[in-house]
Amino acid sequence: MSVTSKETSPELAAQYWQVGDEIHDTKADHGVPIEKIWPDRQFTSRLVNPANRRKMTVIIVGTGLAGGAAAATLGEAGYRVENFCYQDSPRRAHSIAAQGGINAAKNYKYDGDSVYRLFYDTVKGGDYRARETNVYRLAAVSANIIDQCVAQGVPFAREYGGLLDNRSFGGVQVQRTFYARGQTGQQLLIGAYQALERQVNAGTVHMHTRHEMVEVVVADGRARGIITRDMVTGKIEEWFGDAVVLATGGYGNVFFLSTNAMGCNVTANWRAHRKGAFFGNPCFTQIHPTCIPVAGENQSKLTLMSESLRNDGRIWVPKKAEDCEKDPRQIPEEDRDYYLERIYPSFGNLVPRDIASRQAKYRCDEGLGVGPKVKEVDSDGTEHMRSRGVYLDFSEAIQRLGKDAVEKKYGNLFDMYQRITDENPYEVPMRIYPAVHYTMGGLWVDYDLQSTIPGLFVTGEANFSDHGANRLGASALMQGLADGYFVLPNTITDYLADSPKFSKIDQKHPAAIEARQAVESRVNKLLSINGSRTVDSIHKELGHIMWEYCGMERNEAGLTKAIGLIRNLRNEFWTNVKVTGVNEELNQTLERAGRLADFLELGELMCVDALHRRESCGGHFRAESQTEEGEALRHDDTYQYVAAWEWTGEGHKPVLHKEPLIYKSIQVKQRSYK
Ligand SMILES: Cc1cc2nc3c(=O)[nH]c(=O)nc-3n(C[C@H](O)[C@H](O)[C@H](O)COP(=O)(O)OP(=O)(O)OC[C@H]3O[C@@H](n4cnc5c(N)ncnc54)[C@H](O)[C@@H]3O)c2cc1C
Repeated sequence: MSVTSKETSPELAAQYWQVGDEIHDTKADHGVPIEKIWPDRQFTSRLVNPANRRKMTVIIVGTGLAGGAAAATLGEAGYRVENFCYQDSPRRAHSIAAQGGINAAKNYKYDGDSVYRLFYDTVKGGDYRARETNVYRLAAVSANIIDQCVAQGVPFAREYGGLLDNRSFGGVQVQRTFYARGQTGQQLLIGAYQALERQVNAGTVHMHTRHEMVEVVVADGRARGIITRDMVTGKIEEWFGDAVVLATGGYGNVFFLSTNAMGCNVTANWRAHRKGAFFGNPCFTQIHPTCIPVAGENQSKLTLMSESLRNDGRIWVPKKAEDCEKDPRQIPEEDRDYYLERIYPSFGNLVPRDIASRQAKYRCDEGLGVGPKVKEVDSDGTEHMRSRGVYLDFSEAIQRLGKDAVEKKYGNLFDMYQRITDENPYEVPMRIYPAVHYTMGGLWVDYDLQSTIPGLFVTGEANFSDHGANRLGASALMQGLADGYFVLPNTITDYLADSPKFSKIDQKHPAAIEARQAVESRVNKLLSINGSRTVDSIHKELGHIMWEYCGMERNEAGLTKAIGLIRNLRNEFWTNVKVTGVNEELNQTLERAGRLADFLELGELMCVDALHRRESCGGHFRAESQTEEGEALRHDDTYQYVAAWEWTGEGHKPVLHKEPLIYKSIQVKQRSYK
């Protein structure tokens, strides 16, 4: 293993990006002890008198845990909330898919947990690329989330005595994950939805389903509205307010295949980025180790098997390539390599996701993968068939706990696996392989969750979040609900306190006219190309480029190649895509084309971000920067910052603004899970 230069050569860098001013003020007061920063900010944040709140409109795009919680809370506080989602019900937001659980520092297991430990684990898990002040706040409010959800009636799993149960998730040695069988997201979302519907009934929240936000209106330097397309009628409408909140989820579908719902997209974020919102760490993608492997070329979706399964399942591959096609039950213990337990004896199968994923890839690269072979195209264009799977084996757990106990814990996940693969995981080990799952990158926000566009706030997975270069399991639900129930409702008031001074805005405002016209001309352009390629075929090609060159392992040659390929593909899209139908109807091809157009721009920025960060950290593994043992090697002296990218126009190089990361309460160390 070699460590090459820490920095990209100036000549190469100059081809792809420019460097702008650093960001030093994130609105968090570093002069006080970390535990005082949030209470102080809550106190200094200006308030809005209840009589004025009903005169103020907050636009919230998104009804998942982050958006739904924020809309319910601001509605309860008395603001007028206009809430949008593209599904036919707010309850169908992608948060519903979350399986495994939600973290909170309650220390119910008396195993040494604390706010500080949750904070520490999250910063370490993120490989020291998360903002300390935000993560501490997240850990501090985590316990309130559980209380709030229990009060709403969320049916968290309980122990025999009635107390809330906890289980372990990767990257930590305490049990702090609250769960509701394998449906935690669904149950939490029902809780948020009930709170939201109460406000809909009370008239404070107006719900707009099947409305896709396709543009943001920035007037007089502030986010003052959005443009939506009615997905049933095609009607394009303007909506105005005093502030806009984007809670629009992650962009993993840039890879085409991911565990995200098919509709997940980057459009809201990307439209805001093009209007001035910086994009933070776009290349930080989480590839989850426990997904059902790809089965064939016509697949459009991958399925997660919850990380909670790693509590009891043991991961292994055959030691010898000739055993890979055998029935795994016939392979004796001594011929199995429980590689995570071997390499990481302290954390074993519960190492963080980035580490477990890379190790599975290495085993399959070595030819020790199991399961059906799928066609792969190497970067040099050669095709070959390879098995991409490792075993997740429950036989020992079934022996130790009994089948009933395993069924009680994981029954619905086992059923789901069997329905998809037609294999019975109680009898034969599951086969798993890493898949794109979560995006740590997102719009850059300050401590108040405000983007670089005044009045545009971003919450949940849509912001660049608190997870640094790698998110620990069960922390996304925690962050979405922390943002929605507790953080945003406290910080947005400071901005809204000024809103009586904002100028009036309506459809006649030049910014609104410009935004609407941009949407109309884009729709017309997409419908008029009338080329020969389907939207999905181009999306699939983009996904392949991203997975091959900006996936689990990245290097300079691959990333520069990918940027060229994406540029060509974008050109192909705008000259040769075929979008059937018309605007004035339900037109899913048009919807998908609009989203793909944004993915095609985002994909390039992700590669530029990955190219500029010539270090390995968390999920971002640069082949040029690894330790002797093949682990991620950070360069804190050069890259201990958030990369916040500014859009400068089509065909222009983006500007990199570095936000140095300050660690005062945590000692930065090389991560080790051995
Ligand atoms: C299969 C799976 C399992 C997971 N399990 C866990 C787990 O166990 N624990 C954990 O902590 N995390 C888990 N995660 C991650 C977690 O579920 C997500 O990060 C989180 O739910 C995102 O919530 P959100 O509110 O930010 O976004 P979402 O729930 O994705 O909601 C986005 C909302 O924005 C709306 N929207 C998006 N774009 C537009 C637009 N242009 N116009 C209008 N509306 C728009 C959508 O309609 C939706 O309402 C899992 C993720 C997956 C994929």
